[in-house]
Amino acid sequence: MKIAGDWIANADTQRLLQVMDGAGHRALFVGGCVRNAVLGIAVNDIDIATTALPKTVTNLAKNAGFRVIPTGIAHGTVTVTTESISHEVTTFRRDIETDGRHATVAFSTSIHQDAARRDFTMNALYADAAGYVIDPLGGLPDVLSRRVRFVGDASTRIREDYLRILRFFRFYAVYGEPNLGIDAEGLAACAANADRISGLSPSRIGGEMRKLLAAADPTLSVSSMAQAGVLARILPGADPAGLGPLVHFEAGLPPRWQRRLAVIGGQNIVENLCLTRGETVSVGHVRDEIGSGLTAAALGWRLGCVNAQDVILCRAALLQIPLLPDWQQQIDRGARAIMPVMAADLMPGLTGPALGRKLRQIEQRWLESDLTLSHAQLLA
Ligand code: ATP
Ligand code: MG
Repeated sequence: MKIAGDWIANADTQRLLQVMDGAGHRALFVGGCVRNAVLGIAVNDIDIATTALPKTVTNLAKNAGFRVIPTGIAHGTVTVTTESISHEVTTFRRDIETDGRHATVAFSTSIHQDAARRDFTMNALYADAAGYVIDPLGGLPDVLSRRVRFVGDASTRIREDYLRILRFFRFYAVYGEPNLGIDAEGLAACAANADRISGLSPSRIGGEMRKLLAAADPTLSVSSMAQAGVLARILPGADPAGLGPLVHFEAGLPPRWQRRLAVIGGQNIVENLCLTRGETVSVGHVRDEIGSGLTAAALGWRLGCVNAQDVILCRAALLQIPLLPDWQQQIDRGARAIMPVMAADLMPGLTGPALGRKLRQIEQRWLESDLTLSHAQLLA
């Protein structure tokens, strides 16, 4: 099998591979870029695996005019960049010792060893500079059928690194074939090790959950997480029931993990997923307004288009409130609207806290009127 793409053809990328090859080292594309190219999906980052040691990669690339950043040199990774493109170049490795979180690695010259320490068969594919796919573990049929399966024994691989539990559900959500169902052996191994999720850092859990919930349709993955007892360990109290209806109502709108998160809910979302301040505000606003009586236009005015859309879609999913044909236009109308009464209209008759109270009252009446009351009506 041969893959192609602008990223393979990139002159700098080709030159980097030639430099390595010219010095007698093997250098191959690996992981996500090969997987995505095989599946015909956009490639976002380029990983290269090589027999050369990090120091050698650094010297060769620098001499050839590349910029080299020692990103994770202890683990064998350097970033090799030009203005046009960036590559993560990692020396072939094998695991010596693992403790569920960190691995002690040794450099290797064996592609088979390098492949064997990767998580899923679909992530253990390589390709040469011409795009010919090299498949040391026989993972190609899995990629082509979008089957997410651990390399080797699922339980053993999870105990080496418990983050793989979340990666399993994430890769199933993003790359899995829904008609195939989730891999039974992988699911059972995740269920058996679910209690070890508590040892992972919220920022790593949050990173995986953001990507998982941004999949086109994460419904099956999240319900499998619930079934395996994984969801309750990440987000106690979360309920996947609203997710299927939500994806249905989204009807092709760009997916937003914040909206999906708002619909499944759960306790201490901010702490458990290590959300940023901005993410916290937007997920919080959406959750607060799901049960409120504000109209689409009022929500558009109060929250802006994006969050207002999320509220309306979550309401449809959770409260069976139907989507009106013009719901998006209503949100836009609200987002553009300007409150007809300003503080200056009430001064100097009112000042200080009394002014604030009155303004809020007027705003409330205006929102309840679906933004229809005029300046005069609001002041009457
Ligand atoms: P994407 O970037 O689209 O999420 P990816 O496959 O590039 O997908 P990365 O997390 O960037 O995923 O990892 C790059 C490669 O490194 C993977 O394809 C896999 O081979 C390997 N890998 C990453 N994390 C692990 C892990 N925890 N255990 C084993 N192998 C891993
Ligand atoms: Mg990647």
